[in-house]
Amino acid sequence: MSNAVQAETMPAPKDWLIVGGGLAALAAAKKLRNEGAGVHIVEAGKGFGGINNSRPWKEFLLDFGCHLFGNESPETTALILEMAGGSAIPVSPKIAAITKGEISIDVEYPDFNHYGPEIAGEMLIDVLAAAADDRVADVMADSSSSLKDLLLARFGQKGTDMLSPIVKKITTLDPEHLSAKAAVQLPVRRILLTDPDSADLLKQVPALDDRILKPSTGTGLDFYQDAKHVMPTRMFYPSHNGLSGFTANCVEGLKSADAHLETGKSVTSIRRGGTAVIATFADGEEIRTDNLLWTSGPDSLAKAAGIDIDTDAIYHKLPMVFYYFDVPSDRAGERHFMIDTSADNHCFRISIPPNYGPGLAPEGRKFICCEVTCEVESDIFQDPDAFAGDIWREAVAAGMAFGDAPDDVLTMKAPATYRFPKQGAEAVVQPLMDWLAETPAVHMSAPFTFGKSGTVRAVTAQLDEA
Ligand SMILES: Cc1cc2nc3c(=O)[nH]c(=O)nc-3n(C[C@H](O)[C@H](O)[C@H](O)COP(=O)(O)OP(=O)(O)OC[C@H]3O[C@@H](n4cnc5c(N)ncnc54)[C@H](O)[C@@H]3O)c2cc1C
Repeated sequence: MSNAVQAETMPAPKDWLIVGGGLAALAAAKKLRNEGAGVHIVEAGKGFGGINNSRPWKEFLLDFGCHLFGNESPETTALILEMAGGSAIPVSPKIAAITKGEISIDVEYPDFNHYGPEIAGEMLIDVLAAAADDRVADVMADSSSSLKDLLLARFGQKGTDMLSPIVKKITTLDPEHLSAKAAVQLPVRRILLTDPDSADLLKQVPALDDRILKPSTGTGLDFYQDAKHVMPTRMFYPSHNGLSGFTANCVEGLKSADAHLETGKSVTSIRRGGTAVIATFADGEEIRTDNLLWTSGPDSLAKAAGIDIDTDAIYHKLPMVFYYFDVPSDRAGERHFMIDTSADNHCFRISIPPNYGPGLAPEGRKFICCEVTCEVESDIFQDPDAFAGDIWREAVAAGMAFGDAPDDVLTMKAPATYRFPKQGAEAVVQPLMDWLAETPAVHMSAPFTFGKSGTVRAVTAQLDEA
């Protein structure tokens, strides 16, 4: 087909063309179909779901890393359950964190008590001073703020000094090179540096409640009381076939609701066409649509819309190596997942997804998943198998595995997983935001949000405003 738009050869107008087939797209499609809009999803890859997928290995089903859905608001959880066809296992996460080689139960944040009372005391004094100064709102309002600016505003100098190596371990960058918006992706929301009773006392002060962490117990829903009505626990997970089962249910539900879904379709350019928008695909086909929702990131949207911005300056895309250890069930620990912020260890997270519920492993066996963030040039990325013994020993020291060696191991590496906004990213995307403001038919899912619930909540809120 020629690139000229021939009205007579155009497919019938769609109400919404959704570009990208990840979680944001599937949630948007569900909401829009529920409201009666026509929906057409185009995904560049071979399948839907993005990172929300699983890979078969022997009789296991492996997600790419540790994945759980957070139960954060009744509306979001209700929509995710609807997308999942109602199938979900409630999970009261059994979690832990390793800090400086020491294990703390019921926290998924670094525990600075392990550095001793002197350092924890210095950190506390600086947190009190930062809380009195109360600059967090100003820092967040300034689009040029770095993560370091935010850490200083939240926790003061000592807390920033202590958290910086942890940020570097997880992201491979120092906090001054990341945007303050990256904080939602990292365990830096609050800081754990007192015993629970002292934390309770400090948290009576609103400015400290926002900065001081107390280990969670029970369902972990202390902060999300409303969400209990829909799901009784803080987290949940698909009942069948892991994340690939979830995505399959979403796709099936959308198809049976007459949404149109296509894979292998990459949008290469978009342009205004009166009040509508025209999308051109790699094969030259064009679609005119009333509304277009772009869920594949501002970098690819800028390219498609011909907006000249430095797309490399938006995200730090993180390489990762995943290790999966095959063990008999009695050689896997009881926890769901834990984080390891120790500089000496490679893993930043270790999880046992078969502990969430049935369907991921055959009877009598489990797998343990270890995630290592790194650089592409690093030895571990170049030759992950050479590090399998070290990684196994880290899992054993963490109490997530037992024995001298696993029965089998699978290593996988991915050159780009998490996308962390770089310092100054908001200014870089501003010309694109200006273009979007002048192009009401085109919408972009929030570029600097994170997490499954966060992604679904952000995109549904955007559609409410559209
Ligand atoms: C290792 C890992 C573990 C995680 N664990 C958790 C967790 O436990 N809990 C949690 O809440 N969150 C977790 N997250 C985050 C969460 O999964 C993501 O925030 C969320 O899935 C993002 O969804 P999305 O639709 O915005 O993006 P994506 O899933 O990246 O989807 C974008 C889609 O667009 C497609 N695409 C790209 N360009 C084009 C184009 N030009 N045309 C058409 N299609 C295109 C891509 O192929 C992709 O399918 C994790 C993320 C990672 C990487």
